[in-house]
Amino acid sequence: MDIGRTLPADVTADLLDELVASKARFDALLGVAADGIAHIDAGGTIARWNVAAEAISGIAAERALGSPVDAIVPGGWASIRAVPLDGLPHLVRWSFGAAGRAPVRAQVVAIVRTGGIDGWLVSFAPQQRFDEIEQLKNELIGSISHELKTPLATIKAYVETLRDNRLTAETAREYLAVMGDQADRLARAIDDLLLVSRVEAGQLLKRRETVSLDAVLDAALASIAFDADAHPLQRETAGVMISGDPDLLRDALAQVIENAAKFSAAGQTIEVRGESREGRCLVAVADRGIGIADDHLPYIFDRFYRVDRALAATSDGSGLGLFIASALARAHGGTIDVRSEPGFGSTFTLSLPVRS
Ligand code: ADP
Repeated sequence: MDIGRTLPADVTADLLDELVASKARFDALLGVAADGIAHIDAGGTIARWNVAAEAISGIAAERALGSPVDAIVPGGWASIRAVPLDGLPHLVRWSFGAAGRAPVRAQVVAIVRTGGIDGWLVSFAPQQRFDEIEQLKNELIGSISHELKTPLATIKAYVETLRDNRLTAETAREYLAVMGDQADRLARAIDDLLLVSRVEAGQLLKRRETVSLDAVLDAALASIAFDADAHPLQRETAGVMISGDPDLLRDALAQVIENAAKFSAAGQTIEVRGESREGRCLVAVADRGIGIADDHLPYIFDRFYRVDRALAATSDGSGLGLFIASALARAHGGTIDVRSEPGFGSTFTLSLPVRS
């Protein structure tokens, strides 16, 4: 159709402007997309190949553009033509032949217009990215199930025993106390999981207040039901102020103190020292427990990382505690560091900026 002859000149000019603007927007969109995007024309030739497509496939645009899709993705043309012409995305697995990189997971959508097909848009990302997410999901489910099932199993066993009326009142009270502890453990595991999902969503810090370290420490000790008979606590925290979200600061400290107690023998002292220095508040938690060997130190803040797999299978914990603590520190603009010596103990130090 000759637009110039059928429409007034000003309308034609507006339409052309709009077309140029839409093309510029489309080009910009392709440029910023994190996924590889290819436009395959109706004849099976590659007509667009964005920057991410070059990076993901390892194939430069000069080589891809104008090539039949099969020359770049062996079997690609058959996989595209098998896609229904319903305008919906369909999953295919693509590999880039000998020259290209690892397989990708691609979504193909047919561009259908009246009177025919205008080709296909394919968006793709490395298959490995999806595999990693899948693996993470499985690890998380494994770890959660363990963390949730263990206390539940204990509670259930005690309920069964309590049903037996021959128990003395004193034994029954002891059993109820154990059940209460296990229910608390369950609640903490659920709180940790909720925190992890907030960490992932980057939605941690909601408010910032200046509070006393003493108050935060008391709240942390209460939240983990710290047993001061098992671990004498030495605290040098008086007068130190700390700023941030008090609930999150409590959670960060609780994770570290809980580990200090878990990884040191009953009777061993735990020290908490606070100090204000150059606009920062330093909180050190030192234990005299089993310590951590140098080769494990770089990984202990990673998700699910636990030094002793055998111990991990039997002891409480999901390997999420330090991951959460370090994410909380970072959310406050701070850091968490560790110094440790196997057999002598560990010191975890939270360093947080103090802001008014
Ligand atoms: P977990 O749920 O296993 O405690 P964390 O993320 O809190 O997970 O800790 C990861 C691992 O780091 C622990 O499994 C343990 O091996 C090691 N770890 C953490 N804190 C200490 C500590 N105070 N002393 C010795 N080892 C520790």
